[in-house]
Amino acid sequence: MSIRRYERPLTVKAAVDFLINEEGCATVLAGGTDLIADVRAGREAGLVVDIKHIPELNEIRWEKDGALILGSCVIVQRIAGDAAIRGRYRALSDAAENLGSYQVRCRATIAGNLGNASPCADNAPALLVLNAQVRVASPQGCRETALNGFIRDVKQTVLKRGEIITALIIPPRPPRLRSAFYKIKRVRGHDMALVNAAGAYDPDNREFSLAIGSAACTPVLVRGLEGICPPGSAADAVGDRLAERALADISPIDDVRASAQYRRDMTALLCRRLARTLMEADGPPANGIMQTGGAGG
Ligand SMILES: Cc1cc2nc3c(=O)[nH]c(=O)nc-3n(C[C@H](O)[C@H](O)[C@H](O)COP(=O)(O)OP(=O)(O)OC[C@H]3O[C@@H](n4cnc5c(N)ncnc54)[C@H](O)[C@@H]3O)c2cc1C
Repeated sequence: MSIRRYERPLTVKAAVDFLINEEGCATVLAGGTDLIADVRAGREAGLVVDIKHIPELNEIRWEKDGALILGSCVIVQRIAGDAAIRGRYRALSDAAENLGSYQVRCRATIAGNLGNASPCADNAPALLVLNAQVRVASPQGCRETALNGFIRDVKQTVLKRGEIITALIIPPRPPRLRSAFYKIKRVRGHDMALVNAAGAYDPDNREFSLAIGSAACTPVLVRGLEGICPPGSAADAVGDRLAERALADISPIDDVRASAQYRRDMTALLCRRLARTLMEADGPPANGIMQTGGAGG
């Protein structure tokens, strides 16, 4: 293990100070579900700054204007079990519910899932379609940046030395916005996504947003969806158009878990399923889990 020193600050400022004043390597620790596995596999963590005990990072708050503030250290299981989030943002609720096992969800934090910058991070597509912003504390102060573009490459974010994600912000969304999340994995138990996808649809403006994970080096917010759903559109036709746009934006690879072609096929399938779920269903969508064997159209 290559952890040289451990600090447990109680304020964001103290955490940033530890990170920026360290001469060697310094790493943020949240739930540790990714970081400790990486350290065991040989990652040099140097000074580890454990931010879990900073009270403001553990808050879930709805602002008067309807914005949702998720402190960076809010654990995924809390999001999965939050009735208000489930009622308003089903995609996020289902993504959280389908991340890992109960034990993992009780350690894993919402921001750690993004800080790890894995292409298959389950929360990323859901947060992308909800237009999430990332609040970052740095030695210079606080800034906000769009989640779209925050993950630059596999295991790479835009964060610079000394910066910490302090919150994810979902800005006020249209009042009747519907959203859904689907994940295809190999086994019935917990597993990383072969492909995951989230969609959001505003029936008042007929606007769609769509994000696909595990099908490129970062989760992808699909471009060019303006006007994809003109009045009178059938869900299946919209699903075909969503699939066409998604396939143009992803670049899946063959790996030990699935072939690139399989990921393309499943991306198209999930696009059609999202269109049906979001355009036809008045109630909430079915739980977003799909095994590879059970992925019907
Ligand atoms: C058995 C198992 C199953 C899993 N299954 C899934 C799954 O199905 N789906 C899925 O998406 N993930 C899965 N994961 C991955 C993992 O649980 C998530 O990515 C988790 O959300 C990471 O959060 P954490 O708090 O544990 O992060 P940590 O391990 O503490 O940190 C991860 C990375 O993010 C950085 N980081 C953490 N917080 C911040 C912050 N606030 N600011 C800046 N950088 C930060 C850390 O420095 C580190 O580089 C699984 C992991 C395990 C061990």
